Amino acid sequence: MPQGSLTVLGLGDRRAPAPARLCDDRLEPHHRPTHHQPVRNHVMTNPTAAVLGLGAMGSAITACLRDTGHATVVWNRTAAKTEPHAEAGSRAAATVAEAVTAADVVLVVLFDHASVREHLEPVAAELKGRTLVNLTTTTPNQARATAAWAAEHGLTYLDGAIMATPDMIGTPASRLLYSGDRSAYDTARALLETLGAADYQGEDAGLASLKDMALLTAMYQMFGGLFQAVAMMRTVGATAADTAGEVGGWLGAILPHLGRFGAELDRAAHNSGDHDPARGQDVDFARAAVGALITAAREQGVGADLLEPLMRHLDELAATGRGTADWISVADQLPIA
Ligand code: NDP
Repeated sequence: MPQGSLTVLGLGDRRAPAPARLCDDRLEPHHRPTHHQPVRNHVMTNPTAAVLGLGAMGSAITACLRDTGHATVVWNRTAAKTEPHAEAGSRAAATVAEAVTAADVVLVVLFDHASVREHLEPVAAELKGRTLVNLTTTTPNQARATAAWAAEHGLTYLDGAIMATPDMIGTPASRLLYSGDRSAYDTARALLETLGAADYQGEDAGLASLKDMALLTAMYQMFGGLFQAVAMMRTVGATAADTAGEVGGWLGAILPHLGRFGAELDRAAHNSGDHDPARGQDVDFARAAVGALITAAREQGVGADLLEPLMRHLDELAATGRGTADWISVADQLPIA
């Protein structure tokens, strides 16, 4: 197979000491890419990668690719961040166009949708024939908009979402979601799998982002619960570290219930008054429980505004005659017209 190259755009400075990585098992000599014609089809065994963006994540991705023997070309808005990568064997590009034209696969790891479009639009011609993978966090519609822009220019576009922190890149704990052009995914897959488990979601370019946003929503809500617990326990002198340990233990114990909630939500019966109490709490029970949490927080002089939206949904279910439905019916309340 032809030798390829990969470009990483964006190198940050939050790189943590990496744990044992999958990458480290496959050390191969570094390659310094030069301008070349991109590999245009099928699977690339060792493509050159351009990385656009050397923030914490772009830096970790670049190091992982380098460690797995990929030639890497890096570009970053603040050029000084390319220097450690150049010393480690990457080629530093002065411009986005220079990075892109040296690569087979272009990985974009910038700050947001606006910065992605700002730097990709001027190089649409140079991107032609290369595989463009945008790993920058964007919303589903922003991903679809970039995919539409890429299609207008005849580009091969894959959108990605990173379910990992920089220190996890290249370890078994790292998972990346992809959606968009299936052939682009197949072409770049071997390279992408060096970063973590690769999970293709479908042709709709917004799908990876949508799942990312859904999972992160659950994560932030969980952290919100931790902050609430810490604030409550601080009123009696408990350290945040102690409370975090207690919360972790409790959440671990109840985590297996998530699967049951999911299965119940997929059954029609949960949303009717015929809910079987043996299967879990009904709305009236949950209203009493969440109401007590809100009262307890206020009694301790702690705001309950992170809990109040949940209570409002439970109240609405009760007010519309669904007090005996399974309280997980809250999930059915959320779609808006
Ligand atoms: P950093 O803040 O560490 O780095 C941001 C990068 O974006 C830097 O390279 C910065 O360049 C560049 N940048 C910011 N604004 C612009 C701009 N207008 N034009 C050009 N470059 C710009 O962020 P991360 O590396 O951590 O994150 C990068 C992406 O990865 C984000 O979309 C993030 O959501 C995603 N991600 C990050 C995770 C993490 O744990 N860090 C986890 C999952 C996803 P400069 O050095 O010049 O400022």
